[in-house]
Amino acid sequence: MNLKKSAAAFDRAKNFMPGGVNSPVRSYLSVDCNPPFIARAQGSKIFDIDGNIYVDYVGSWGPMILGHANPKVVDALKKSVERGTSYGAPTELETQLAELVQKIFPSMKVLRMVNSGTEATMSALRLARGFTGRDKIVKFVGCYHGHSDGLLVNAGSGAATFGEPSSPGVTRGTAQDTIALPYNDIDAVEKIFEECGEKIAAVIVEPVAGNMGLVLPKENFLPKLREVTQKFGALLIFDEVMCGFRVALGGAQEKYKITPDLTCLGKIIGGGLPCAAYGGREDIMRNVSPDGKVYQAGTLSGNPLAMTAGIETLKILIDTPNFTENITKKTSALVDGLKLVAKKFSVSAQIHQAGSMFGIFFSANDVTNYEESAAANQNIFKKWFIEMLEQGIYLAPSQFETLFMSAAHNEEDIQKTLAAAEVAFKKISSELE
Ligand SMILES: *Cc1c(COP(=O)(O)O)cnc(C)c1O
Repeated sequence: MNLKKSAAAFDRAKNFMPGGVNSPVRSYLSVDCNPPFIARAQGSKIFDIDGNIYVDYVGSWGPMILGHANPKVVDALKKSVERGTSYGAPTELETQLAELVQKIFPSMKVLRMVNSGTEATMSALRLARGFTGRDKIVKFVGCYHGHSDGLLVNAGSGAATFGEPSSPGVTRGTAQDTIALPYNDIDAVEKIFEECGEKIAAVIVEPVAGNMGLVLPKENFLPKLREVTQKFGALLIFDEVMCGFRVALGGAQEKYKITPDLTCLGKIIGGGLPCAAYGGREDIMRNVSPDGKVYQAGTLSGNPLAMTAGIETLKILIDTPNFTENITKKTSALVDGLKLVAKKFSVSAQIHQAGSMFGIFFSANDVTNYEESAAANQNIFKKWFIEMLEQGIYLAPSQFETLFMSAAHNEEDIQKTLAAAEVAFKKISSELE
């Protein structure tokens, strides 16, 4: 595969941007190769500036559930752009999108649009603190909720009560209000609540975790989180920025029948434009400014282009019969095929699926939390990634990322992917001997 133009473009980009990118994972650091630079995308395919064509399972990291450049979304955007790109004033579009979101996520009685998942979780946590009058929050190691200071925190050593900054620039003071616990470990959650439950404002969780690879919640984890938070008067925040609209149309809360107090959405809600939202119980949400005193604002929030792309996307999700069922079946066909190929070549792999999300760990053991995810074989992952890329299959360049099926992927894409996987697994297994 020729990536000459991409390599030159990458060199130029590095002069101007850290790592040549505007979000770190795009630099392909963990797979030791240069990223293709993208020229355009259509349906299930993405095209680089060197003329290579790939079947895309990154989908812009989740948003492109309809595939790229869906004609209905593109048409609506063309019309919208002619009417001006931003007003900083109320529009009917915002209410329309809010209504659609509420139809799909009935727990979001009142909601606020923001521009990124980072903003949604940051604002939801501020609101939880404002509402409860408490300072501490609980998060889980390996869950990613965006890059606000209080969420860039790992478990501290020793008595896990105080978190440690996971990035320079996050103050110890900030980190100390975040308690980081292992995912799926309900005993650790109950213990911390017994110790200091009256100080905890909220538990924030990816109810299906997609940022340590794809890790599913154990059977009792979410119901117990609901129970414990309720008992101690802390809020339960579902960060469904990734799993919303994917594990079920109404997200993990629909699939697992748990009602969180607040929900964060992003990615799909903007149909490929920058948009996210937080919302939930009315008595909590009415504390947001200007109804209440918890401040939060945004110059471009509720932007008409983003609202338009979101509205068109959610309408298609709602109006297409069996949308989620079909995309889930397609994902299962690929995942089942990959499992067979792994078995055929005796490569130890854990292949997980939740709706239209899927992921692969090169490990002989179950993966239920970050520690187990990090123990998977990253060298094999790297080989797998490169072998697939060279055959025109565009996967996320890190085992800690999730892969996404779109409505635009067809049988041919899946067969092509499985044929490429045969070649990749064969090579891996011969090197393992
Ligand atoms: C992507 C993601 C975020 C952050 O969203 P951005 O729009 O990148 O700020 C937050 N939470 C989860 C679960 C995500 O997957």
